[in-house]
This record gives sequence, C-alpha cells and structure tokens, in this order.
Amino acid sequence: SDDYCTDVKPRILLMGLRRSGKSSIQKVVFHKMSPNETLFLESTNKICRDDIANSSFVNFQIWDFPGQIDFFDPTFDYEMIFRGTGALIFVIDAQDDYVEALARLHLTVSRAFKVNKEINFEVFIHKVDGLSDDHKIETQRDVYQRANDDLADAGLEKIHLSFYLTSIYDHSIFEAFSKVVQKLIPQLPTLENLLNIFISNSGIEKAFLFDVVSKIYIATDSIPVDMQTYELCCDMIDVVFDISCIYGLREFGGGSTYDKESVAIIKLNNTTVLYLKEVTKFLGLVCFLREESFERKGLIDYNFHCFRKAIHEIFEVRTTMLRCHKQHRGL
Ligand code: GDP
Repeated sequence: SDDYCTDVKPRILLMGLRRSGKSSIQKVVFHKMSPNETLFLESTNKICRDDIANSSFVNFQIWDFPGQIDFFDPTFDYEMIFRGTGALIFVIDAQDDYVEALARLHLTVSRAFKVNKEINFEVFIHKVDGLSDDHKIETQRDVYQRANDDLADAGLEKIHLSFYLTSIYDHSIFEAFSKVVQKLIPQLPTLENLLNIFISNSGIEKAFLFDVVSKIYIATDSIPVDMQTYELCCDMIDVVFDISCIYGLREFGGGSTYDKESVAIIKLNNTTVLYLKEVTKFLGLVCFLREESFERKGLIDYNFHCFRKAIHEIFEVRTTMLRCHKQHRGL
C-alpha cells in the first residue's frame, strides 16, 4: 500500500525574515525552478502549505517574518503547529545584516522549544554564493557564536542549533535539506544497513536512496559522500525526469510518469555507470558503479529486488503500528 507515506512523512517548517530566500529554496528544491528565475519571485505573504504533499516524501510549510507570525496574538495557534513539527529550518540571509534575523531566530526557537522539546533546530546561513571562502567561515563562526550566546544569556543552553552554509546556486541546499530530513527518519540506521549490504553484495561503489521529486537523499551507505558523485546522481534524476516527461506515457492524463517500471541506465565515458530504479512511489535508488561490475546486472537486479522488498516491509510495519496505535487511542 502507498498510504504509509502520509503517516511517516517528516514535517518541516521553513522560517525566516522576508526576502531571506525561503520561497526560492522551496521552488528550487521542490519545483525544479532554476536559481535565476527566483529573482522574479513574489515574496511569501501567508502561511503557506506546499502542494508537494502528494508527490514527495517530505511535507513542509513556510512561515514568514514580518507578516503572519505574531507570537503575541492569542488567536495565532503556533503551539499546535510546533507540536506537529519535526524540524524547524530558520533561513538567515548571509549577504545582509543579520542582527534582526538573529533576534527572530532566538524568539522563535525559545517559543518552539517550550512547546516541543523534540524539534530539531536547523539554521541555514543562506546565499553564501556571494561570499569568499574566508568570509563564509567567518560568517558561520559569527552566527554560531551570537546565536548560542543569546541562548546562554536566556538560560537555554539546552537548545541545540545545527548550522549549514547554503545557496540555491549549487548543490549545498540539497545536501543541507538531505541532512535535515535524514534526522527525522527513525528507520535511518536500518536503511543504511540495507544499503551497505546491498552495495557490498553487488559490487556497487555508492548508492543513494532519493526522494525523486526533490533530489533530497534520505539515506546512503556508509562510504563518505563525495559531492561530485552526489551531483552526478542529482543530474541523472533531472535527465531521467525531463525525458520521461517528454516521452513518458501518461495513462490518465497528467500525473507522474514515475512508477514501478521506472528504470534508467547512463554509461559515462570514464567507465562509470549510473543505475536508477524505482523503490516506492516517492523513492528511487541511484547506484554508482564501474562498468565491469555492471556486467553482473542479473545479480544486481536480484539483490535490488530483495532490497526493495525490505524497504517496503520497513515502512509498512511502521504504518501498521501507527494505525494500531491510533485505533487504540480511538482516533
Ligand atoms: P522569501 O521572502 O524569504 O521567500 O525570499 P525569496 O525566495 O523571495 O528570495 C528573495 C531574493 O533572494 C530573490 O531575489 C532570490 O533570487 C534571492 N535568493 C534566494 N536564494 C538565494 C541564494 O542562495 N543566493 C543568492 N545570491 N540569492 C538568493
């Protein structure tokens, strides 16, 4: 069944000052907009639930300052929203003066923590494409220092903030989003384990389990991630989807052409092979391997079959448990 996805989807809030880059991040990561087109985006001005809910593994909302969020407005039920949130991403524009942003970050984080101690607080130091390498490191150090000083002054040193340097002009935004999402997946160690077993038995160098719509990878094997490999895999997903949008068969008009039959092989001229296969409605596996290993495609496909089955079982077991749990509570 596919409905497990609605139960286990990580819920993410994207917040930050107006013009910090939230809509751009949303459009580039989830709607394939090219970074240059974001120059003409209209600013977000309402609490905005993204429509990706039905097409991606990830579920998220955007909140904007100033604007709709007023913690002092009694009719604004932020508590309910924070309770259901797994990660709060706070976007700070690194090309701008960030004093006001830090004040908002502090207010938001302390409010959210009061309501829900389990939220992961993730700070995106964003638009760093405009900064030199030295300046990037200096900015990260400064933001880290000031944000944590503010928390310490308020006696809130228990709150842990994670920091990422991001830009929509390279893969850093996808990489950061991937890490944020991975923290929200309770089955991550199991997924990593399965990927390790799969690649070592199949002669594969590296494998990523992707949310194919966003190119966020939700798990990979334990070999360290090389940015170039990750970028190649992302590019492959783009190519495959562009081609299947043009030539793919849409049985009921509209909708996605991504289904159980989806598979793609790209041979690069340096004896590397990229191999993509459908795993679930939202997830795909992209493998990176040598041409020699690909000669044993039968073995790889057999191992993949076992891997895919295991993934389905992991998510299905969890849904069943959730469903029982809900019934138990009369929901
Ligand atoms: P929002 O109000 O927070 O939703 O901000 P927008 O997404 O509308 O972005 C405001 C401006 O920042 C736009 O002109 C974007 O093109 C620009 N922007 C967003 N992300 C980046 C980035 O990573 N680098 C650079 N240089 N500009 C960005």
